[in-house]
Amino acid sequence: MKRNSSTTAAQRYALVTGGSRGIGRAVCLRLAAMGIPVLINYRSNEEAARQTLAEASALVPGCELLSFDVANAEAAEAAIAQWQEAHPDAYVDVLVNNAGIRDDNLMVFMQDEQWHRVVNTTLDGFFTVTRRLLKDMLVHRHGRIVNMASLSGLKGMPGQTNYSAAKGALISATKALAQEVAARGVTANAVAPGFIATDMTADLNADELKKLVPARRFGTPDEVAALVAFLASDDAAYITGQVISINGGLYA
Ligand code: NDP
Repeated sequence: MKRNSSTTAAQRYALVTGGSRGIGRAVCLRLAAMGIPVLINYRSNEEAARQTLAEASALVPGCELLSFDVANAEAAEAAIAQWQEAHPDAYVDVLVNNAGIRDDNLMVFMQDEQWHRVVNTTLDGFFTVTRRLLKDMLVHRHGRIVNMASLSGLKGMPGQTNYSAAKGALISATKALAQEVAARGVTANAVAPGFIATDMTADLNADELKKLVPARRFGTPDEVAALVAFLASDDAAYITGQVISINGGLYA
């Protein structure tokens, strides 16, 4: 379904959580190249965020930084509310819930803090940000939600019970949400990358892990971003409630 012509007056934006670096940065640039101004969320690395903002702004006017910790519901709500008040004629039409961290440990050694930090960032972050922005999408009868899951959320990875639980729950929430909002022109999908070359995977033994991947290499952030951009486009209007793997053939 194409965008409702009665609502085209509203300026549409994209919000990418964790948009400063890695996959999120590549997603920001892809969406900006599609002509959608991007709100670049980040937690602490302002220098990286400013660099991404400069690159995105060269592609489309109107991009902004929107700093908050997705795991801090109060801070996230406040930052988004402030942006909404400053932009009464605009709405976030594309939401990419990408912010995520890993903090690996075998379960027998895992600390409470490791469990909660990882789950809060991925799962509570998704809930807080999506609930806040969903109403506008429903009112405008158009929206795209893309949730960054992981192969770990499908397969489960030893040493990552926290991360696998968070990503697995994110996938299930995506499927449930998709059915709630499909009739209103809003889609919700999950993307499940395998190994992607970013800061998050910089500490892994890439030479050994590559041997496990049929494609014999890690993916690039831009390859993931291309998939996200497709899911955010009008061409993907009939795809919803799906989890799409991008992993060089590394199946669960
Ligand atoms: P990076 O570590 O390279 O970047 C993480 C990004 O998330 C940064 O922009 C960071 O902001 C932001 N971020 C982290 N925590 C928060 C928070 N609490 N609030 C707001 N922003 C936050 O990660 P990747 O690009 O590799 O990963 C992106 C997503 O893709 C994650 O959800 C990850 O789980 C998922 N993924 C990654 C894979 C990989 O192999 N790389 C594989 C499968 C899934 P700041 O710059 O301020 O620190």
